[in-house]
Amino acid sequence: MTQVSKADTIKKYKVLNSMINITFPDGAVRQYEQGVTALDIAKSISEGLARKVIAANVNGETWDATRPITKDAMLKLLTWNDTEGKYTFWHSSAHLMAEAVESMFPGVKFWVGPPAENGFYYDMDLGDRKMSEEDLAALEKKMNELAKQNNPYIRKEIPKAEAVQYFTKKGDEYKLDLLQGLKDGEITFYTQGNFTDLCRGPHIPNTGFIKAIKLTNIAGAYWKGDEKNKQLTRMYGITFPHQKELDEYLQMLEEAKKRDHRKLGKELGIYTMDDDVGPGLIMWMPNGTVIIEELEKLAKETEEAAGYKRVVTPHIAKESMYLTSGHLPYYADSMYPPMDLEGEKYYLKSMNCPHHHKIFAAEPKSYRDLPYRIAEYGTVYRYEQSGELFGLMRVRCLHMNDAHIYCAKEQFNDEFRAVNEMYLKYFKIFGVDKYVMRLSLHSPEKLGIKYVNEPELWKETETMVRDVLIESNIPYVEVQDEAAFYGPKIDVQIYSVIGREFTLATNQVDFSQGRSFKLQYTTHDNTSETPLIIHRAPLGTHERFIGFLLEHYAGKLPVWLSPLQVKVLPISDKVLAYANEIKLKLRKANIRVEVDDRNEKIGKKIREAELNRVPYMLVVGEKEMNEQKIAVRRQGKGDIGTQPVEEFINMVVDEIQNRRSE
Ligand SMILES: [Zn+2]
Ligand SMILES: [Zn+2]
Repeated sequence: MTQVSKADTIKKYKVLNSMINITFPDGAVRQYEQGVTALDIAKSISEGLARKVIAANVNGETWDATRPITKDAMLKLLTWNDTEGKYTFWHSSAHLMAEAVESMFPGVKFWVGPPAENGFYYDMDLGDRKMSEEDLAALEKKMNELAKQNNPYIRKEIPKAEAVQYFTKKGDEYKLDLLQGLKDGEITFYTQGNFTDLCRGPHIPNTGFIKAIKLTNIAGAYWKGDEKNKQLTRMYGITFPHQKELDEYLQMLEEAKKRDHRKLGKELGIYTMDDDVGPGLIMWMPNGTVIIEELEKLAKETEEAAGYKRVVTPHIAKESMYLTSGHLPYYADSMYPPMDLEGEKYYLKSMNCPHHHKIFAAEPKSYRDLPYRIAEYGTVYRYEQSGELFGLMRVRCLHMNDAHIYCAKEQFNDEFRAVNEMYLKYFKIFGVDKYVMRLSLHSPEKLGIKYVNEPELWKETETMVRDVLIESNIPYVEVQDEAAFYGPKIDVQIYSVIGREFTLATNQVDFSQGRSFKLQYTTHDNTSETPLIIHRAPLGTHERFIGFLLEHYAGKLPVWLSPLQVKVLPISDKVLAYANEIKLKLRKANIRVEVDDRNEKIGKKIREAELNRVPYMLVVGEKEMNEQKIAVRRQGKGDIGTQPVEEFINMVVDEIQNRRSE
């Protein structure tokens, strides 16, 4: 018989009944019993809320909503509307997919199943078996069945030896490989229904949250992304909490297909690629080059007005510079291999920053020279794996709307705000109504490992950046542990008119590279100080931005960006001279114009100009010639009336100069 002492009973009683303080995002503090879960807390607020909670942020970490909280904590309940919530939802769906696959393909081995930008995937080894389209439909059906069982995702901490034993027995060498990198004491298994996975979580409370499922694609993927390794099967899917959301998503995909920048880029003669040049290396054709030059003109005007000066730097630099900047050895994988020259190694530049720092350092600087702003549409080269290359979105040579601002700490707020305002100005020009800025912060535990060990500077700059975002009333989300090595950053996400998300560019604070490059300026008091550096690229790269624009406008670019702005369409040869006269007048007004002088029917000429997305078509026949007028057609809209040429010129020039969208 066990003796239970009175003291023990009291101790147990105390543990069970001790209360903890939970702090909510609005600062409110409420007391709960120790061991309470985020889901319990949601229930204590309202049943409706509890139905929506899929995970929780506990002290900066994403957790299962069903995991007991044992000490005082900051708590944010996460729903589908939070990025972390969505990722938890999709990652949990990957487990559900794996369960369905395992039930249909016994013996399948799994590698990893992370959430993706839209949905999730799981890499798996199916052995000799192949997955067919019919299999996908059957798997979807199976997943729906399993989801309806409302199976909870059960977390279990497990000793390493036991975990190794489990996967040895299962014969899954991929999970065993993952286990090798994990420490005893920090290993967890998650089980839902008949499926158990090695995973650190978190997951949604149960499979019943998943109401709409679509398996979207099957592809090959090398294990660990290495072409020397075995090729695994990568299955992609997407899930939603309501059927309506899936329907909308599929409709958006249909629309996106029509607006695919690769299809439009070819049809409109924007860019090309060639095997002899190499994968991921874009060649801009004359039409694409017009767009590039218009974008650069916009950037130059905007930057000049904002006090930037322009610089030009070479495409290569010696190894020593990238050692100073820290790109080597850390980012060697994303750079082209070096060239040997006169006993030195030269690298193609993957960033413009180091060259710009050298320009800052070339002449002595005093506080009077700050802020020092230098800009360049810089060409950079990045080694992207061939499997990752995608149209204009993932390429190996990029042209970046780059600039660096070197400023004193007390100038930072104004400078950073001005950069943000520049983003907003561009969004207005391009009709970007929806955007989100992601403020990426450091993680204090990783100072000196993943982040420069400057706790005070981190705090200070993060506060400065946050203040600017709040003051400018810009929608933003905060994410822990995603900052750059040398400072906090803002990732800018914009949405095309059909609601697709594009990561545009980052806006970065840097308090470290200035020191690495020994950049100095003389202060009022004649002391030496290192400037803060802002890295910014509001228009991103030509490649990604033009890819975005093609989708956003469905190829119907605003007049100022259109490679060809006006096409004159003579009805017969009799009016050819008149058509050419109009062309000359328009050209004098700097309008990009051509005459379709082919011996074709006018209907055909109009159709082709429409297909080529020429914004204005001027139809001229004998009637127009005799009246010294033109019949104007707007692309996609048809006839908009007859006008004297001068009137038309004034209208179009105004449209171009003000960079109007319609
Ligand atoms: Zn998981
Ligand atoms: Zn930079």
